[in-house]
Amino acid sequence: MTTPLTTVVWLRLDLRLADNPALHLAAERGGPVVPLFIWSPEEEGVWQPGAATRWWLHHSLAELSERFAKLGSPLIIRRGAALEVLQSVVRATGADAVYWNRRYEPELIARDKLVKAALVADGLQVQSFNSALLREPWTIATKQGKPYQVFTPFWRACVASANEAPEREQEPVDAPRQLASPSHLPKSDTLTSLGLLPKLSWADEFPKFARPGELHALKRLQEFLADGVLEYDHERDRPDHLGVSRLSPHLHFGELGPRQIREALQLYAHAGDARRKKAAEGFLRQIYWREFAHHLLYHFPHTPEQPLRDEFARFPWLKNYKQLSAWQQGRTGYPIVDAGMRQLWRTGWMHNRVRMIVASFLVKDLLLPWHEGARWFWDTLVDADLANNTLGWQWTAGCGADAAPYFRVFNPTSQGEKFDPVGDYVRRYVPELAKLPAKWIHRPAEAPREVLEAAGVTLGETYPSPLVDHAEAREAALAALQTLRK
Ligand SMILES: Cc1cc2nc3c(=O)[nH]c(=O)nc-3n(C[C@H](O)[C@H](O)[C@H](O)COP(=O)(O)OP(=O)(O)OC[C@H]3O[C@@H](n4cnc5c(N)ncnc54)[C@H](O)[C@@H]3O)c2cc1C
Repeated sequence: MTTPLTTVVWLRLDLRLADNPALHLAAERGGPVVPLFIWSPEEEGVWQPGAATRWWLHHSLAELSERFAKLGSPLIIRRGAALEVLQSVVRATGADAVYWNRRYEPELIARDKLVKAALVADGLQVQSFNSALLREPWTIATKQGKPYQVFTPFWRACVASANEAPEREQEPVDAPRQLASPSHLPKSDTLTSLGLLPKLSWADEFPKFARPGELHALKRLQEFLADGVLEYDHERDRPDHLGVSRLSPHLHFGELGPRQIREALQLYAHAGDARRKKAAEGFLRQIYWREFAHHLLYHFPHTPEQPLRDEFARFPWLKNYKQLSAWQQGRTGYPIVDAGMRQLWRTGWMHNRVRMIVASFLVKDLLLPWHEGARWFWDTLVDADLANNTLGWQWTAGCGADAAPYFRVFNPTSQGEKFDPVGDYVRRYVPELAKLPAKWIHRPAEAPREVLEAAGVTLGETYPSPLVDHAEAREAALAALQTLRK
């Protein structure tokens, strides 16, 4: 009988044991398994992980290390060029195979192709799998054989073909119960030596919002199914109520996969009435926005930098960096915008409705380039994700697929009044306005002097006066749009 050979599992954005096809199939081979994480941010080009995602990654890896140690094969952590590290780990362990789950960022697709070719040339068995998506981008196309650029037909086509191969085969796979480790363990760097944590105490409050790691991801999903999903449709636009799942960082890091969510939703719907079924379908539809974003990034790999709609390359953006800095710091004088930007800084996350409001404010009220906003989000969001962030910003700026038309300009005051009607969200993140009554909390600049005095607000001192007049800014945005039409 031949001794089963060793498999290296290269972990990337799939930091979980359950429903991890690369790990599952490596374990099924029966030989030793070497779980390996390689820190090689330079290989991600200009989109190296930002500061907030590095914080998350540190804690997620810490949790995963503990879990691999319990399974019997410790997580090996290494810094360096991916190919060199893989080759050195293969040499150290005598492995004959390398498995990983696929990523979809253009820079990494190119890198992975080179790595694969080199490892195959070394005589290794190399296989990649899908852990991150319900629908890989090349498996679906319009009737004309083109990529989708509108969400609803994309989603309908995905749902209609969900039971066809290759989708049918993609049920979640089990976590391995134990793993054999190789007789010679390769050397591992320490997690702290990667230097992922911020030097300042900036991230101290992040864990109040969400905790990294697969176990926390599964817990969050169960909590959301127990007390969130039924009301999701009514509550998802209310930042004051937090009626959303907050699964985004877990999904980004692959601590939880969309197949697991789909399965959990199916069980949830199956065990209940029509209301549950509707709620489950509604939430799953939202997960397909993430799928759509990956579809777009794969087929239009230039979009993190360039607008999908070419004419927007000529848009006359202003480059007022003082205003950019006021936006980043949550000091625009528009309470809902400031609350959102401060929520982002304090918690590493922002509610989707507010992301749309602050993004619209940046590109339409301040006429600053959407790339500036995308960059700031990239550095400060714990869920910063190249596909979703690009879609979100291009959608808001009106230059992407299925985008909000540029001429539709969000009014930050009425958006605040509609989606944070009592002002609780603003009070939480802009405490200097906390004493203002609901009637004025979204429009402090219009409040009578005695109301401001009673609430301890002095405009321009305790809270900024509005950076721009929204009505004038809107006219300027529409005029800028006209220049594209000429
Ligand atoms: C300007 C802008 C930038 C954004 N940047 C990111 C980003 O970097 N990373 C990120 O994960 N999301 C991004 N989004 C999308 C969305 O805001 C977040 O996915 C959502 O707020 C995460 O919170 P949640 O998990 O509670 O969402 P829920 O409402 O509970 O939705 C569940 C999941 O569905 C997916 N999803 C929901 N809405 C969208 C959407 N519009 N686009 C893509 N996927 C969606 C996400 O994976 C999300 O976790 C951005 C949106 C905008 C407008």
